Amino acid sequence: MDNYLDKVRDCYSDYFRREEEIDLFTPGRVNLIGEHIDYNGGRVLPCSLSVGTYGAASKRDDGRIMLVSADFSGSYIETEVSVIEEINDDPDSFRAFGWAAYPLGVFKKLIMRGHKMSGFEMAVTGSLPRGSGLSSSASLEVLTCAVLKKLFGLELDGVTASIVSLEAERDCAGVNCGIMDQFVCAMGKKDHAILLDTSTLEYEYSPFVLKDHTLLIMNTKKTRRLADSKYNERRSECEKALLIIGKKFDKEKKNLCEITPEEFEKVEELLPDPIRRRAKHAVYENRRTLDSETALKNGDIDFFGRLLNASHDSLRDDYEVTGAELDAIVDAARAQKGVLGARMTGAGFGGCAIALVKKEFADEAKENIARVYKEKIGYDCEIMKAETYDSPFAE
Ligand code: ADP
Ligand code: MG
Repeated sequence: MDNYLDKVRDCYSDYFRREEEIDLFTPGRVNLIGEHIDYNGGRVLPCSLSVGTYGAASKRDDGRIMLVSADFSGSYIETEVSVIEEINDDPDSFRAFGWAAYPLGVFKKLIMRGHKMSGFEMAVTGSLPRGSGLSSSASLEVLTCAVLKKLFGLELDGVTASIVSLEAERDCAGVNCGIMDQFVCAMGKKDHAILLDTSTLEYEYSPFVLKDHTLLIMNTKKTRRLADSKYNERRSECEKALLIIGKKFDKEKKNLCEITPEEFEKVEELLPDPIRRRAKHAVYENRRTLDSETALKNGDIDFFGRLLNASHDSLRDDYEVTGAELDAIVDAARAQKGVLGARMTGAGFGGCAIALVKKEFADEAKENIARVYKEKIGYDCEIMKAETYDSPFAE
């Protein structure tokens, strides 16, 4: 981690010719289990990671805002507090800022909530791959919240920071997404996962202590081209399923995840294929997520590993959102010594998968998975070891 801290501090002093007032780290996140069920009333079980985004920053008293990313050239952006105060909080107004739409969107949303801030300058760098589903965007937004809180002494708690970050991403950067990413980056804690209901923001920490195990984050490097269109298709398939079976119970079910697997078995023949399989995934994935929480509480990591496997199989066979690359990387992982379980994570069709592996076998597994993946798919993947990590807002 120290390398990245050095990198962001060097970048800061190169551009701003002084030492920064503060530096901070904000985690990225990964969803451990509970995939494609947030829109069916189910819960997700993500954790914050030791890979994320670093920032170095200082206040300015001339009303200017200067932002630079060490991660690509030409990233330097300069504007003024008065400009951000006056522009609309819509993507058209923020488009010209490029990557800086994320931090400037956060700044705008904080102003709109009545926070008083002067100008500032900030350098950032990320240790997680961008655009591959580990939520570098949410990590950058929450980092900005944490930096501005510290620089200007704002009254800002983690839940509010996650809402501000989501508003910035949706309204200013123009990316329509749910709140899970921002919530976990802002509220995650070391050695914990968060069981979260994304529609109510009810949450509970669940212990996730990886004493003898490591999490491998495996980036297929396959772009998630199909993810958006298939996401919408799956959502409407789930809605159709609910229309058909929701009223078949004593008390009408308002979403698929209210239905237990036992209840589902009694009505599933009413559903035509593939809608039956989509609904089956939602119902059983919700059960697997709750079982995972129990397994983690009991320290039953082997059972948790089996649930990860079952989740991927369901996403591959019933929900059909994996694809050759995710299946190849997961199969390669499962074949390695010391691997307890592996699954895709995120929307699917590309992006990342995770594997849970015994520490002593982690390096060997990493090497073998990368080799097998390249043989099968024809290009390199990227595999990182990750741990859980505290958000700057975690108490
Ligand atoms: P993901 O959140 O899955 O990584 P997104 O496409 O949502 O992918 O967000 C990636 C975008 O966030 C980048 O294109 C860039 O605009 C911004 N971003 C994230 N991290 C950084 C960084 N370290 N420096 C500059 N921009 C970043
Ligand atoms: Mg994102």
